[in-house]
Amino acid sequence: MRVGFIGLGNMGRPMAKNILQKGFPLIVYDIVPTAMSHLIDQGAQGASSPKELAGRVDIVITMLPDAKAVSSVLEGEEGVFAGARKGLLIVDMSTVAPSDTQRLAQEAMARGLRYLDAPVSGGVAGAEAGKLTIMVGGKEEDYKQCLPLFQCMGERIYHVGDIGSGNAVKLVNNLLLGINMIGVAEALTLGVKAGLKPEVLLEVIKNSSGQSYAFTSKVPSFILSGHFKPGFSINLQHKDIELALQTAKECNIPLLLGSVAYQVYTLARGKGWGQEDISAVIKLWEEVAGLEVRYAELRKDG
Ligand code: NAD
Repeated sequence: MRVGFIGLGNMGRPMAKNILQKGFPLIVYDIVPTAMSHLIDQGAQGASSPKELAGRVDIVITMLPDAKAVSSVLEGEEGVFAGARKGLLIVDMSTVAPSDTQRLAQEAMARGLRYLDAPVSGGVAGAEAGKLTIMVGGKEEDYKQCLPLFQCMGERIYHVGDIGSGNAVKLVNNLLLGINMIGVAEALTLGVKAGLKPEVLLEVIKNSSGQSYAFTSKVPSFILSGHFKPGFSINLQHKDIELALQTAKECNIPLLLGSVAYQVYTLARGKGWGQEDISAVIKLWEEVAGLEVRYAELRKDG
């Protein structure tokens, strides 16, 4: 099975590396040529365009920032559709709106190609460790063919339904993450302003009913250390809530907390923190409270 991988950023690079290390012949492409060099040094071959790559492989995986990038990689003049042979399986692992996935999948199928959406959760650390959670939408037989590749990148792999379902699950997850993160930021700042030690709050709440992934993972690694390098960036979280709001509009469902969360991440982007981890939203409350929620024993240079 010859595999192509397009989009070698924070997530794509370690995911592609794990596929290569499990012995699959791999051809890679990124719009930034230097992004390919690390994988080429490790034995992958480089392609000159998505079109050229598509003509040399059985499966193309894409891991791109957003639907605009996925569209340009698939539909562009030098794109995958232009170079694909009939039966090629496209696996988009980027986070995009379910409706974008459905549109692109329909176009692929009209050309005799196959399509899965397979977004992931677990962040850069999960990608590096090969321990991502992968949620897959599409046909059962295509899912089964791809399973050995998913197992190179992830630990928990779920076939959740038809095309677009993977991204629907992902958006629900990331809506919750984005809202939970803001809850953690304001509650923690209140606790410290009221005179509590952040390390005490960490210890008690991680063992109490207020805990969440945003709390147990982000408080020690980012907030208490003051180290806000992603991680999962505010820009990507902002995009994901935007996709949830777009999907909610299509479904005629109100997203009250989602709308507020969207504005908070917009504010944080306006502050120039778009490239920082989502936990950096706590700085909005810290500014108002006139304090920093840090713990000297975990503190990094920040
Ligand atoms: P990134 O910005 O680090 O990487 C994207 C890569 O795609 C870059 O190398 C870029 O050069 C390349 N690219 C952009 N446009 C291209 C084009 N037209 N042709 C070819 N290459 C192109 O982003 P990331 O953090 O790796 O995230 C990728 C996807 O995974 C996003 O959809 C994101 O929402 C999702 N995701 C990210 C995380 C995370 O923690 N970073 C976690 C889960 C899911």
